[in-house]
Amino acid sequence: MPTVNSAFAYCDQLVRDFEQVIARPVRSESSVYYTGIDLGTAYIVLAVLDENYRPVAGAYRFAHVVKDGMVVDYIGAMRIVKELKQELEEKLGRELLYAAAALPPGTFALDSGAIKHVVQGAGFEITKLLDEPTAANAVLQIRDGAIVDIGGGTTGIAILRDGEVIYVADEPTGGTHFSLVVAGAYKLSFEEAELYKRDARNHRELMPVLRPVVEKVSSIINRHVREYPVQEIYLVGGTCCLAGIETIIAKQTNLPTYKPQNPMFVTPLGIALNC
Ligand code: ATP
Repeated sequence: MPTVNSAFAYCDQLVRDFEQVIARPVRSESSVYYTGIDLGTAYIVLAVLDENYRPVAGAYRFAHVVKDGMVVDYIGAMRIVKELKQELEEKLGRELLYAAAALPPGTFALDSGAIKHVVQGAGFEITKLLDEPTAANAVLQIRDGAIVDIGGGTTGIAILRDGEVIYVADEPTGGTHFSLVVAGAYKLSFEEAELYKRDARNHRELMPVLRPVVEKVSSIINRHVREYPVQEIYLVGGTCCLAGIETIIAKQTNLPTYKPQNPMFVTPLGIALNC
C-alpha cells in the first residue's frame, strides 16, 4: 500500500516553511497579514501568512479549552488566543487584524457563535468561519477521497467528490485516548505519557502498545467510508505524526492511505489560506 504521495509537494513545502517561522518569524513589509486560528481539543494553533499567502509566523499552546469539538472554557480560550496574538505581534512588529477560524465536522450549528466570539474577543476581525476538512483541503488539494483528521479529542472524517465535501462525521476518539493507553501501559501520568508519545524516538517502541487504538480508529473510518466509493484516505491531525499509523490504517481499511510529512499543521494553515 503506498503511503507517500508526491501530490503533497505544496503541502509539505508550506508546512516546512511554517515550522521554520514558528522558530524564527519573518519580518516582512506585507500590506496585510492573514491569521488562521485552530481551536483544538489539545492545541490552539495560530498560523500567520503574508499578502502572498506565505507563512511568516506561528505559535501554538497545549490547552484544554475545547472538548469534543466544542468550546468548554470560553474565557480561557479567549485569553490564550489573545496572548498568542500579542506574542506574534511583538515578533512581527505589526498588528494582526484579520483572522479565520474553523469548526470540526458537524458542529457548525452548535458552536459557531462561541468560536466567533473567542476570535473577536481576542481582538481580531473575523473574516471567515469554515469547516475543518475544507480548510485542510485548501492545503492538500485533493478532489476525491476521504480526509481523516485524527486530532486530540476526536477523529473527523470528510468525504470529497470533485473537490467538494459531501459527507462529514466527527467521532470522539483521538490522541488523548492514545496518551491514556500509554499512561496505563507505562505507569506514567497523563502529561508524562503525552510527552513520551509525542517524541518520535519512541514511536517504533510504542506502536505495538497503540496498535489496538489505531485499529479502533480504522474501524471507525471503515464504518463511515463504506457507503461511498472512496478510493483513497488522506491523513491529517497531530495524532497522524505517529510513525507507521498510516500503514496500519491502510491495512485495516484496505485503502491506499497517504499522509503529508507533518500532518499536524495542515488544518491551521488551510484556515489561514481561507482568511
Ligand atoms: P481536535 O482536532 O480533536 O479538536 P486538536 O486540533 O488539538 O484536537 P491536533 O492539534 O491536530 O488536534 O493534534 C493533537 C494531538 O496530536 C494530541 O493528542 C497530541 O498528543 C498528538 N500529537 C502531536 N504531535 C505528535 C507526535 N509527534 N506524535 C504523536 N502524537 C502527536
